[in-house]
Amino acid sequence: MPENPYPFEPFKIKTTERIPITSREEREKILTDAKGNIFNVPARTITIDLLTDSGTGAMSDAQWGALVQGDESYAGSRSWEDLQATAQVVFGMPYILPAHQGRGAEHLLFTVLLDRDKKPVIPGNGHFDTTMGHIDWAGGTGVDCIGDWALDPESDYPFKGDIDPGKLRSAIKEAGVDRVPLVLITITANTAAGQPVSMKCICEVREVCDEFGIGLYFDAARFAENAYFIKEREEGMGDKSIAEIVTMMFEPVDGAVMSSKKDGLVNIGGLVVCRDKKLYRRLASMGTLFEGFPTYGGQAGRDLAALAVGLREVLHEEYLRWRIGQTYYLGKRLRDNGVPIVWPPGGHAIYLNISKILPDMPLSQYPGVAFQNAVYLDSGVRVCEIGSVMAGRDPETGEDRHPRLEFVRLAIPRRVYTQTHMDYVIESITRVYENRDKLKGVRFIYEPKVLRHFTAEYEEVEKEVSKT
Ligand SMILES: *Cc1c(COP(=O)(O)O)cnc(C)c1O
Repeated sequence: MPENPYPFEPFKIKTTERIPITSREEREKILTDAKGNIFNVPARTITIDLLTDSGTGAMSDAQWGALVQGDESYAGSRSWEDLQATAQVVFGMPYILPAHQGRGAEHLLFTVLLDRDKKPVIPGNGHFDTTMGHIDWAGGTGVDCIGDWALDPESDYPFKGDIDPGKLRSAIKEAGVDRVPLVLITITANTAAGQPVSMKCICEVREVCDEFGIGLYFDAARFAENAYFIKEREEGMGDKSIAEIVTMMFEPVDGAVMSSKKDGLVNIGGLVVCRDKKLYRRLASMGTLFEGFPTYGGQAGRDLAALAVGLREVLHEEYLRWRIGQTYYLGKRLRDNGVPIVWPPGGHAIYLNISKILPDMPLSQYPGVAFQNAVYLDSGVRVCEIGSVMAGRDPETGEDRHPRLEFVRLAIPRRVYTQTHMDYVIESITRVYENRDKLKGVRFIYEPKVLRHFTAEYEEVEKEVSKT
């Protein structure tokens, strides 16, 4: 891993937005009014918002310019032509279908490819939660075939998002080929801390799919970040351009769904891309029903225009060097300060290993929420629990589903924050970490049945006095 000082920002700032600065007293009142739930805290009181990297990025002057020039024709707009032509070149796929966002694209692909009566099984490298939701909804089951290399949060393994071909073969055999309509690789692996997938793995998975005659698709939300990791870390790839690597990555796959809110460098939108005309026609019929006519798919012409520019800009190597370097800087400095994180840093976020930070706090007191709230109180920085609260309860037993490890995620919006902002975050997280013995757990005072993390209400649990 190269020693990486803070990378040079390959842009200058033309429009600014005032950042809210609050006092500790103000934040205490705000969090109490929000019933201890960070999702209820208004964004206008957040100093640095690391809740998500989805739809939170800044657009370039070229994108803002494209918005003004966007063509709002219902069918076959100029903006659509530009997006279609760009996406065809970037992904090397003939058929491009817009959707209102990533989950809209998932809805189309899975309703077309999944046959409910067969109880379909979809292997992958840790499906994203909306993906899992759509697979469930289409009557299918997701199976995680990510390699054991993803399990150790401290190893240096360079491609922790890789699928284990052995696990994939077993999953297909166990389900029976007939029940597996596709394999889905998520690049980068969002649920595995934004870790990349290697070119080698993509080719190996293609071979396994060919053995069984199964289609291979990407969930490509962070395709450019993945390509940059391949360039940096994979043998023989260092001399290739990002555009060339993206072409290589998509060559072995039959199609992809994509949320444009990440590497599309726009704030809303999604795409399905594919090679097969028959499949495209079925997707386009469904799309017309659920998203809109196939040349706009739930997006304004100006949104399509900005996405076309975003898809070209995200391939700029100096942008990706800065983007991945910023995430690395945040992770490396936290680790140097002793804070346990998932290593190596992924593309879009740093994951704090709460299981190691608060090992003695009972899981029933939700240590991730305790840490997340303490960070907000300390500095107005918003981070997000990815742990037992988010995992919810088992619908059968009613017991909490505890994930293998508890995390708090620091997701970084694209082109929004500077080094000074990262330093502010590092100081705050380090301070909360150093005072972790004082943290109090929480209990629910209101707990909704589904997606409880969004609307739950909490109170602090008093600490037991002695534990000798
Ligand atoms: C964000 C995301 C989605 C869903 O996309 P939306 O635009 O939020 O609907 C699907 N898969 C992955 C990997 C994502 O990161």
